[in-house]
Amino acid sequence: MTPFTIKLLRALSALLLWAGAAGVIAGALSPWAAIKILKSVDLSVPGALFAQGGLCLAAGVLVLLGLRRSPLLCLIAAIYTLGWVHTATVEVPRRVKHQAIGAQLALFPINRLLDQFHINDLEISDWSRPNEELLAPGLDWTNKGALVLLFGGLIGLPVDPIALFIYKWTARAKCRHCGATWLKSRHAEFCPQCGHGTAPVDRWHCGVCHGDLGLKDKFCTHCGVVVVV
Ligand SMILES: [Zn+2]
Ligand SMILES: [Zn+2]
Repeated sequence: MTPFTIKLLRALSALLLWAGAAGVIAGALSPWAAIKILKSVDLSVPGALFAQGGLCLAAGVLVLLGLRRSPLLCLIAAIYTLGWVHTATVEVPRRVKHQAIGAQLALFPINRLLDQFHINDLEISDWSRPNEELLAPGLDWTNKGALVLLFGGLIGLPVDPIALFIYKWTARAKCRHCGATWLKSRHAEFCPQCGHGTAPVDRWHCGVCHGDLGLKDKFCTHCGVVVVV
């Protein structure tokens, strides 16, 4: 990769990670559930008040606080956020209905009293509405923010400091002469199996000590390495 490509990837990834995290935070603070109570009052519940929304909010804040330096960690945060959003589409309506039923039960003594005066019962909500209709747009925004975050993480993966660190310590070098491999981090200048030089050699210069070579030399006259072309 050229330095320009690295810079471009870094900038693009940073921009997407920033935007994605902002989207996740805005989404988690926006309503995830909307319910009409007592037939007239619209009640919106922000995502952050649900367990999954709180976790999404935390993930977004962590990315902004410093996680964005590592696209790999942001990628993991994005996958978790998408998982929580997925769970929330089932759990949030269930939770809202559960709370509303609790409120309805609490109204029972009042409704009994109203019955005596032949006044209609107080109904917390319309139970016939399907669960999906209880979901508010905030959940979708969080989902979109997490997708942007995921994309930013993927783009930044080749320049991720943790991924580069892992690569640095696990990448293997290969001998051109015998095919043996060893960890690049050993910085071996000679093959541990056959003793041939490991640095690239051209016909005129030793790859290890860069000394001049003669056309038919089999060994470098300066450092003794076997010449492999
Ligand atoms: Zn070798
Ligand atoms: Zn040499």
